[in-house]
Amino acid sequence: MIIGIVGLGLIGGSLGLDFRSQGHRVLGVSRKPETCERAIARGVADDASVSPNFLRPADVVFVCTPLGVMEAVVDEILSHLSPDAVLTDVGSVKGWVMQAIAPKWANFVGGHPMAGTAESGIEAAQRELFINCAYVLTPMATTPPEAVQRVEDLARSLQAQVYCCSPEEHDRAVAWISHLPVMVSTSLISACHSEADKAVLELARKLASSGFRDTSRVGGGNPELGVMMAKYNQEALLRSLYAYRNQLDQAIDHIEQSNWATLEQALQTNQHQRPNFMH
Ligand code: NAP
Repeated sequence: MIIGIVGLGLIGGSLGLDFRSQGHRVLGVSRKPETCERAIARGVADDASVSPNFLRPADVVFVCTPLGVMEAVVDEILSHLSPDAVLTDVGSVKGWVMQAIAPKWANFVGGHPMAGTAESGIEAAQRELFINCAYVLTPMATTPPEAVQRVEDLARSLQAQVYCCSPEEHDRAVAWISHLPVMVSTSLISACHSEADKAVLELARKLASSGFRDTSRVGGGNPELGVMMAKYNQEALLRSLYAYRNQLDQAIDHIEQSNWATLEQALQTNQHQRPNFMH
């Protein structure tokens, strides 16, 4: 198969590495000429260019740019695609994508591979990033089943677990388990940083270990991605943040009132709940 990838960064580059290692021909398009050169040198793409006009032979095209430029990028590439090509995206938000982009191309399939690292750009691309990760597809009633099947087969070939749901369900679910954690984690880092005593702050930095590493990881990631999650999934993220603030207020109440039994009960409940979110 000939696969086009537009946006050769962490996600686009990682898809390119895996698809090429499966024997597909990968054509890459990115904004900067030096990224295209690196993509070829790193084996992300067989050929790469800043111009989309060589996407014509592609059977499937993955749009892997940041959400903020995705609509403009799609507008730019559409006239260069074969009429039968399947177009898909990897954006972390699906409601906006399905409203703004899906109507532009009949063979469009919304997608979200739920894998990542704290890094971004072509150098962050890595093989086998998607193994055992969720890959969500959000087809509409009008999406041709063959187009969905083609993207689903490619997602499965990455050894990802494929899930289909509505864009709204996707956005509400990822607000809880992906977008809220980014905001909580970044707030944790800034709260620690608000320690006024420099000696205590320095000691805290030295003592920080696995617990802090785990809880601060997603807040220390790509800032552009965090802003895009908030901007394009504002309503669902705010709903989750208000609920989280409510939980924090309850914890503060228990601690202020020295209500240790209630606090322990809440901690016990959550200790039992956590495995339900792990695979
Ligand atoms: P990234 O590492 O920053 O890669 C995006 C790439 O897009 C950049 O390397 C940039 O390449 C290219 N680009 C920017 N503007 C462009 C344009 N106008 N035309 C063509 N290429 C352009 O970001 P990412 O983490 O891979 O995220 C990409 C998409 O994946 C986003 O929509 C995001 O929501 C989604 N996603 C991210 C994650 C994650 O954890 N990171 C997970 C799942 C989905 P140049 O070097 O050429 O500028």
